[in-house]
Amino acid sequence: MSLPPSADPSAAFRFARNALDRHGELRDDATAIEAAWIALGTRVFVLDGARVILRRGADGDAIAAHDTETARALAGATATRLFLGAAEGVAWFALAADGFEGGEGAPFEAADLRALAVEGSLPADHYGALATARGLLHWHDGHRFCARCGAPSQVVSAGWKRVCEACGAEHFPRTDPVAIMSIERNGRCLLGRGHHFRDGMWSCLAGFVEPGETFEAAVRREAHEEVGLRIGRVTYFASEPWPFPGSLMIGARAEALGDDLIIDPVELAAARWFERDEVRLLLDGGHPQGLHAPPPIAIAHHLMRRFVDGR
Ligand SMILES: [Zn+2]
Repeated sequence: MSLPPSADPSAAFRFARNALDRHGELRDDATAIEAAWIALGTRVFVLDGARVILRRGADGDAIAAHDTETARALAGATATRLFLGAAEGVAWFALAADGFEGGEGAPFEAADLRALAVEGSLPADHYGALATARGLLHWHDGHRFCARCGAPSQVVSAGWKRVCEACGAEHFPRTDPVAIMSIERNGRCLLGRGHHFRDGMWSCLAGFVEPGETFEAAVRREAHEEVGLRIGRVTYFASEPWPFPGSLMIGARAEALGDDLIIDPVELAAARWFERDEVRLLLDGGHPQGLHAPPPIAIAHHLMRRFVDGR
């Protein structure tokens, strides 16, 4: 999809689209949260890790968003409950259903969130809410005990905080920033293959932003560590929440100051320069060797598209 230069490119990204007003001011208002939970029309997503519990044979909103009674029956009475916010005049929650088993012919089934995103079979506004729920539930899963004293911690603030009753420490959800970059020089773009990539897929280099580092510094460090390139100008492109499991992908265009590559074999299976026409074939299909780009749910796809379009 081509966008006018003034538009926010992330508006087209699957997980960046989020219709929710998060209503942070309500999170500590237990009365308001309970009223929202029992209100008519409240929507609840039920997740088991990166799987979303769907109603078979339904369509539209009814596929993934359940009423509160159904959601509690699916997830159990003690499941962690998150208040995601409100949209279209109703509250949206999420529940964690650990170890959901649907079984043949059952009215509900668990579907992989990544596959659902590639298919685009859910209402467009559900993906950002599901990314929020997945990121938050993943954080809870890894923070059941206080990081300061080791005692079990409790979920408070409608799922947006944990507190330790033993030492009083408060813990807030985190998202992991990842720098992902289109490295360019003289009309060519550098792409790489990770060791676990599907056959034939080439993508942009990426790496976690480390403490004490700017986003731009992370772009320059990753490029140097992974392919030995020095980077000049770094220009912000767009960002996308990436719920596998809980990252924020921050995209950049990075201008390389040289062509010669020194590839780190631990980080990468391969890396090389691609001409613009070849990147177009990766995106649109028809590459003679069957090579391809990541699907449009990934920001890498849109970084590569931006390079091809010369924007
Ligand atoms: Zn503690």
